[in-house]
Amino acid sequence: MYPDVSLFIDGTWTKAVSGRSIDVVNPATGDKIGTVAHADKADLDRALEAAAKGFRAWRKVAAFDRSKLMRKAADILRSRADEISRLLTQEQGKPLPEAKGEVLAAADVIDWFAEEARRAYGRVIPARTDGIYQLVIKEPVGPVAAFTPWNFPINQVVRKLSGAVAAGCSIIVKAPEETPASPAELVRAFADAGIPAGVVNLVYGVPAEISEYLIPHPVIRKISFTGSTVIGKQLAALAGAHMKRVTMELGGHAPAIVFDDADIAAASKLLAGAKYRNAGQVCVSPTRMLVQESVYEQFVEGFVAHAKAVKVGDGLESGTTMGPLANARRITAMETFIGDAQQKGATIRTGGSRIGNKGNFFEPTVLTDVPLEARVMNEEPFGPLALISPFRGFDDVVAEANRLPFGLASYAYTRSAKTAAAIGSAVEAGMMSINHQGLALPETPFGGVKDSGYGSEGGSEAIEGYLITKFVTQAGM
Ligand code: NAD
Repeated sequence: MYPDVSLFIDGTWTKAVSGRSIDVVNPATGDKIGTVAHADKADLDRALEAAAKGFRAWRKVAAFDRSKLMRKAADILRSRADEISRLLTQEQGKPLPEAKGEVLAAADVIDWFAEEARRAYGRVIPARTDGIYQLVIKEPVGPVAAFTPWNFPINQVVRKLSGAVAAGCSIIVKAPEETPASPAELVRAFADAGIPAGVVNLVYGVPAEISEYLIPHPVIRKISFTGSTVIGKQLAALAGAHMKRVTMELGGHAPAIVFDDADIAAASKLLAGAKYRNAGQVCVSPTRMLVQESVYEQFVEGFVAHAKAVKVGDGLESGTTMGPLANARRITAMETFIGDAQQKGATIRTGGSRIGNKGNFFEPTVLTDVPLEARVMNEEPFGPLALISPFRGFDDVVAEANRLPFGLASYAYTRSAKTAAAIGSAVEAGMMSINHQGLALPETPFGGVKDSGYGSEGGSEAIEGYLITKFVTQAGM
């Protein structure tokens, strides 16, 4: 059973004051499966008041106790993984095993930040005068407003929520309206673990209305957004106008570079596996496969074979390895990208079309001979669409990898230690994974450069986004 999802404000699950709600649709069937409460200003004002109150209380709770509560929330989440993953698949489409993996990974993220809470160390700086103590103290930045998308409904929230709560901040999460039930279950895990009222608040509504109201609001001290670069720039500009701290996890267009000395069979298998995970709706999805000329055809053949073996279907059915796209907009986007590329000379090696007319199913697609002026070579595909292009030498591939304004994930395959070191340093990206697909663990940095944003949502850097540095110098009287 899929629920009617409520707002969570000041420790209470509540309908919107206006009584308004938004329909939730299963992308595998096109059927309405539930609703989500639609917050207006009156609800946001309550959430702001709650977050201000929650912050005053939570910042005083010892890191040791914050950590214990977070670990409890993580365990609650794990214990509910089966039921939550079914909600996630119904609202977002991804296959059940991927959904369960997301819930369990979210619990790991909470555990990681629970430990970081206890290690938000400051330092003591040697003074120039005897009897003076110069202290660097880390304090929570204040109430956070977080905006998260629909591709990983839980995991996009959990990094922000856990970072904020670990640091001693309160938070208002504007979670995705299209996939509201699973993030609500994440919040429920914190509520059931005993998080004090007001520390964690959850709202849904019209994204632009909520961000335009929350970001400038004096209660809010920090903004964290995951989504497209276009929207990220708008929100960062608004935050800048109000001098708010910002973390931005934006789009990418990840180059995956395969040198001729790589294990080609392994590279094509791993990259195709990564490409079609979550139907390609992943910000770190490998999107531009750049393959050295002499192994190009071998790689394309291997990749296409893996693409053809993907089993597309309802994520709830066993054996499905790729579900529908999360919303109908992505179908239109795929069709537009493919039509434009074809018209400019691209070859469809497999896929290329929508499957059926019920649900948002799309074929795993491989395009070759795609000219650089094709839209999809410049805009993030964000769907099951792989682009494979040949390159001649190291300098050419670095130029192509760095051609776009994005710089989130990047991948390389080579058996040469020298090439691995050189490519790791030459590509302008926040993350580079060499000879395996190894990004997005809680304990490793996660973030981009250039138009892909700034700040990290993983590793020991991640809690920094929720802390301020205060200097206290103290003398004995
Ligand atoms: P979109 O740009 O309208 O929305 C992306 C996300 O931003 C959504 O969650 C949306 O609710 C939110 N958003 C939009 N306008 C907002 C605003 N004014 N204030 C606050 N939040 C706002 O597009 P979409 O159709 O939902 O997704 C399309 C593109 O977004 C994709 O092609 C991809 O590039 C990007 N995207 C990136 C990620 C990521 O993980 N980085 C996730 C989802 C979507």
